[in-house]
Formats: sequence, C-alpha cells, structure tokens
Amino acid sequence: MQESTGDASLLARLAEGVKNNELRLVYQPKVNMRTGRVIGVEALLRWAHPELGILAPGAFLPVAEHDDLIVDIGTWVIREALRQILIWQQQNLDLVVSINIAPRQLLDPDFLQVLNQCLADEPDAYPSRLELEILESAALENTAVIRALIDACREKGITFSLDDFGTGYASLAYLRQIPADVLKIDQSFVRDLLTEEDDRLLVSGVIGLAHAFRRVVVAEGVETAAQGALLMRLGCNIAQGYGIARPMPAEDVADWVANYEPDAEWAAWDDMPWDMDDLPLLMARSDQCIYVDQILGYLEGKDLNFQPGELSDHHQCRFGRWYYHEGQARYGDLDEFIELEAVHKALHELGTEIVRLKDCGELTPAAAMAKKLLNVRTQILSRLDSLQQQVGIRVAHNKSPTQINVSASTRRAVGIKGGNPVQILVVDDTPTNIEVLAGALSREYTVKFATNGEKALEMANRPEKPDLILLDVMMPGMDGYEVCRRLKENPDTRNIPVMFITARSDMEDQIRGYQVGGVDFISKPFQIPIVLARVSAQLRLKLHSDLLESRAFIDGLTGIANRRHMDEVLENECRRAQRNKMALSLLMIDVDHFKEYNDHYGHGAGDECLRQIGGVLAMMPMRPGDFVARYGGEEFSVILPGCNITGAQIIAERIRVTIEALNLPHAHSTTARHVTVSIGCATSRQTDELTPERLLAAADQALYQAKQQGRNRVVCPLPEGT
Ligand code: C2E
Ligand code: MG
Ligand code: MG
Repeated sequence: MQESTGDASLLARLAEGVKNNELRLVYQPKVNMRTGRVIGVEALLRWAHPELGILAPGAFLPVAEHDDLIVDIGTWVIREALRQILIWQQQNLDLVVSINIAPRQLLDPDFLQVLNQCLADEPDAYPSRLELEILESAALENTAVIRALIDACREKGITFSLDDFGTGYASLAYLRQIPADVLKIDQSFVRDLLTEEDDRLLVSGVIGLAHAFRRVVVAEGVETAAQGALLMRLGCNIAQGYGIARPMPAEDVADWVANYEPDAEWAAWDDMPWDMDDLPLLMARSDQCIYVDQILGYLEGKDLNFQPGELSDHHQCRFGRWYYHEGQARYGDLDEFIELEAVHKALHELGTEIVRLKDCGELTPAAAMAKKLLNVRTQILSRLDSLQQQVGIRVAHNKSPTQINVSASTRRAVGIKGGNPVQILVVDDTPTNIEVLAGALSREYTVKFATNGEKALEMANRPEKPDLILLDVMMPGMDGYEVCRRLKENPDTRNIPVMFITARSDMEDQIRGYQVGGVDFISKPFQIPIVLARVSAQLRLKLHSDLLESRAFIDGLTGIANRRHMDEVLENECRRAQRNKMALSLLMIDVDHFKEYNDHYGHGAGDECLRQIGGVLAMMPMRPGDFVARYGGEEFSVILPGCNITGAQIIAERIRVTIEALNLPHAHSTTARHVTVSIGCATSRQTDELTPERLLAAADQALYQAKQQGRNRVVCPLPEGT
C-alpha cells in the first residue's frame, strides 16, 4: 500500500505515543438484557494525544494496521487488560474483559508466545476472564491457523468471539471450522433493525445460526430500548451499545455495575411471547419521542424535518397511519388502544400550535406550551405501556392451552353445557359456493364466511377462533395456498386445520396444498354428504390433539384450567405485576354447603353442579388477561391482572349473582334454596412484597370471613395501609 506522508508522520507520532504511554483503554459493558446481569466489558483503545485530545481508534489505528506497530499496540492492550482483570478480580468484580486483536497481530507467528509471556507476567490474573475478539473477515481467510490458535487458547480458558459478525459472509461450513464461543452481530445490522425487514431477517438468521452451533450471541450497537426488546424477541439476550452504556474509564466500571438497572421497557416486554405483528407497538414509543424532540429542537432553532402533513395531521404520521389501519384491526377492542387516540391527537395539536407561535416570534407562549407537550408525551408513553401489557397478556393467554383448547369442541368433549358451538370459517370468492356450503354445514355448526384471503386471515386471528377453515384455492389477490401458509406461520392460528376446496384436483396441486399445511381436499362440485363426513373427521382429529395438548393443564371435570396451570399463571402474574407496578387481584370462590349437596343429591349431581359453575366462570365476560381455574374440590379461583380492589369487587359480585341465577336447587343449604357461592378477594398493594403465597393466603382469609358472615357474599377487604 502506498503511504502518504501524512500517514507516515502519524505513524511515527503514534509509535512515539506508544512509548510515551499515551494509550488508554476504556471499557464498554455487555449486559444480559433479560436478567440485568453485567457479563463483561469490551476494552476499546483510545489515544490520549497531548495536543489533539482523546482520539478514537478510527483516527489512528488504520495507519498502524499494516505495520508492526499494530503488534506492539496489541501487546500493550493484552498487558493492560490483564492488569485490569486482576484489579477487578481483587474487588470481587466478576467481569470477562474482551480485547480486539488486529488481523496482523493474530497471524503474527509469535502471537501465542507473546500471549503466554503476558499471562506469565501477570500470574494472578485469571486467563478465563480474557476474551479475544477477532474480526470475522480475518478469521475466514485463515481458518486453519485460527483454529489451532483457538484450541491452544482454550486450554488456558481464554475464549474467542467473532467480531462484526455478518459483514464477512461466513458460510455455515466456516462457522463449523472456527470454534469461537461468541458471535457478535455487527452494529450496522442492529441500527435499522426496527425498520428494515432485511436487517431483521439477517439478525434473526445469525441468532438462529448461533443457537444451532451453540454459540453465544451478542448484539453490538444497541442504542434504543426498542432495539433491545426486539433482539430479545428474536432470541438474543446479550447486548452492548450506547443505549446501555458508553465506553468508560476503568475506574468508573465498578460503580456503574453496582447501579445498573436494565431498561424498564425491557422488563415490560420480557417473557411476553409477543407476535412479530406487534412490532409497530414497539416502534410507536420511539415515534412519539422523535416527534416531540423535533418540535423542541425547532424551538431551539433547529430545522423541522417532517413529511408533508406529518406535523399537524395525526392521521399522517407513521404512528397515525398504523393506528388507523393495522392497529385498529389488531387492538381496536382494547380500552388502552381506544384511549390513545385522544392523547395522540392532542400531541399534534400542541405541536402545530408551538410551531405556529414560534413562526410568529411568540417564543414565551411557545415555550410554555412545550411543557404541556412533554406532559402529553408522558401520558402517551404510559398509555402505550399499558397497551403493551394488555397485548402481552392477551398473546400469552391466547397461546396458553386453556385458551386454545377450551374451544367449543373440547368443552363439549368434557361435557360443559352452554359452550359455543363449533365454528367453521368458509373462505371462497364465489357467493354461490358459500351458500351451498353454509346451507349444508349450518345445521350442525356455526358458519362464518370470508370472500378473500385478507379477510380470512383477520377472522382467523380473532379471539374466538374457528375450529376449522374451508379454503378455496383459486381466489383473486391472495390465493388459498398463501393464506394457508400465513395461517401456519402464525403461532396463534397454526393449530386451526385447513381443508382446501378446489376445482383442480391434480396431484401437484394437492402436494402443494399439503406442503403449505393443509389437511384435506374437497373437490368442486361438492357432494354434500362427503363434505360433511370429511369435516366431521377433521374436527374429531382436532379435538383429539386439542385434548392431548390440554390434558396437563385442564381440569378434566369442568374443562377450565386446573390448579397446576393456575399456579403457573399466578406466579407469572405476580412477577409481572411487581415489575410493572400494576395491581393484581385474586378471587377465591367456594360453593356453599357443597358437602350437603353431594350427600343429598349424589356425586354425579355434585359433579354436574361444579361443571355448571366452571362453565359460568369460563363464559363470564372478562378482560383478555383474566384467568379462571378450578382450584380443587369445590373451590375456584380467578386471577385479575391490572385490576384494583374496586374492579375485583365488581367482578366478584357479578360472578356471585350469575351463579345464583343458575338456580340449581339445593334443599339442604341453610343459606338459600339454591346453590350459592362465597367469594374472597385479595388485591396486591404496589408496595407489597408480592408472592403467590401471600396473595392466596389473603384471598383465603377473605373467603373465610365471607363464610363466617353468612355465606353467599363477597368479602373484599381493603389492602392494609390504604
Ligand atoms: P468494535 O470492536 O466493533 O467495537 C465497537 C465499536 O462500536 C466501538 O467503537 C464502540 O465505541 C462503538 N459502539 C459501541 N456501542 C455503540 C452504539 O450504540 N452506537 C455506535 N454508533 N457505536 C457504538 P470504537 O471504540 O471507536 O472502536 C472502533 C473499532 O476499533 C472497534 O470496533 C475495533 O474494531 C477497533 N478497536 C478498538 N479498540 C481496539 C484495540 O484495542 N485493538 C484493535 N486492534 N482494534 C481496536
Ligand atoms: Mg470488538
Ligand atoms: Mg464490532
């Protein structure tokens, strides 16, 4: 390479700087976003230039890269890092320190010997605290050498990571040959993760690759909480970036580690099995912040950078476009979503007014209004938080076996009366076909229709899911194969069996249909008895698999969740409530004088009584995250996340009244002439040390009081100290 004179003098000055001890290392933390643990730091080089100040490596390392000076610098870095490892070790700070090794240094024939010498000179520092970051591209060119090196270092406990992963086109075969412990996803892919589908696919691919090869995966350059949340969702929990911490001097690390708390937003998204379709919700937060920053920036004299209409029209900003289309379709039924509209509108009104005032030179009223703007932003963010929680709760419960499996068919199988009938969705663009099928099927089933693929996907995704879909293959726009593929891709609709209706019955078509996940074919023109027989056969199969899946979590008698499932949900909800500082209520419901009922009417009747009560609970209109279970014997429980004491009391009273209205005769009750229940409620206080045991004990205590006070009532004590 031809060196310019500028480069030559920089190189000479750098060599002098190395001798004069002008190099420094700063450290950037790597954290596990899920657990909040700081797992290590990356050592990054700085040159404390006497005249130019602190220089980043980009300003000086490139000139050294093709010179032996890089090897001297690298050796200094190893020594300095080991010295620091020992200091932290003595402070009981358990951190792995990773250092960057330049390609030339790595391939230097003496590298291993130098490394050994450095280790020997710092004998008390644990080599297992040292990690070497090598560039993916360098490793690719010299797999045999690198492999030998990695093996030799591994014997000492030193680990390796492949830096800037994704930029070097590593193939699967190479990855197998380079036994690095860690893959670091390059920051260029993380930057646009939320907006660029391609980057998301690449990152998701790298994460998959890392898992498949049992490598740890670390994301570099995480600047926002939303990026972190998405990475976690994609399966990468470890991250490094300005959004967590900027590189800092060694002296600051211990304090930083002691005070580090993971972003609250991560906790909110943590262990939520959210759908990729909920991604816009994640972006909504940053959209709102960007809007406000723009307006505040404008007040400070910066340019406004809005698309036409984006400033004043709350339909036109990215959030608005999402809100009135996809958002509406997905979350339109949630209160938290509906409430967002007004605050979002207010945000745009304020923004427009602030810009107008500034343009008229009225700076003081504009500044006063900026305070209101910040206030509205806080409100939006907190509403988005609650929406996010609601959505997470909904997704979690949609995926839980009770929700999937206490479908109409399962309910029937376990003998609950009053469940919804089996629902079949017919998708066909020809109305006459729909009519013929509906005519045949509606005698036994509830039939719903869609005349195109998009509508079908939307309907299949609704909370009350179809038990079976009859899907036309040939439709304008999205064809049946594509609809089926998407249904199978979405975990929420994956389990719905799809039968194709087709005029084409050649082998290839059928193969394609099975490949995308269809279970059967019905050919046009229909022969109704055959359609009915095949539908019924598929429903029976579905029922069996539903039952198998649900058995572990479902109470066999009532068909609602069992104690085991309830324990699991309660544990999760307690954790979530505490983390998000949300209220959590629990109802314990006990059938009054149930022993007398059993003694008098017999156990068969007793079972039927419990089934009816379970049926009432399962059918009670409650919020999406609410959870109903048979606790055991004649006891039932209801978990109400996000519900305060007043809400819990209202729901409990509604349950009590509805069960009373069943009017199941009970001649041996001393409370009433029919079956009644007593209900105890407990609500967590935000300050409580919230555990399932405490909440259960409090609800039990309230239930005991309800019994003492004469049964057939709700007791809902205020939490202490409120
Ligand atoms: P790298 O190893 O990929 O290190 C990460 C770089 O990304 C660091 O830049 C870090 O400050 C920066 N970074 C971290 N988080 C963020 C973020 O959220 N956003 C953005 N935009 N950047 C972030 P730095 O310190 O300037 O180092 C640049 C590169 O110089 C390093 O990339 C590494 O390849 C090289 N380097 C640094 N120290 C050494 C060293 O001691 N020896 C050698 N050979 N190379 C080094
Ligand atoms: Mg690095
Ligand atoms: Mg990197």
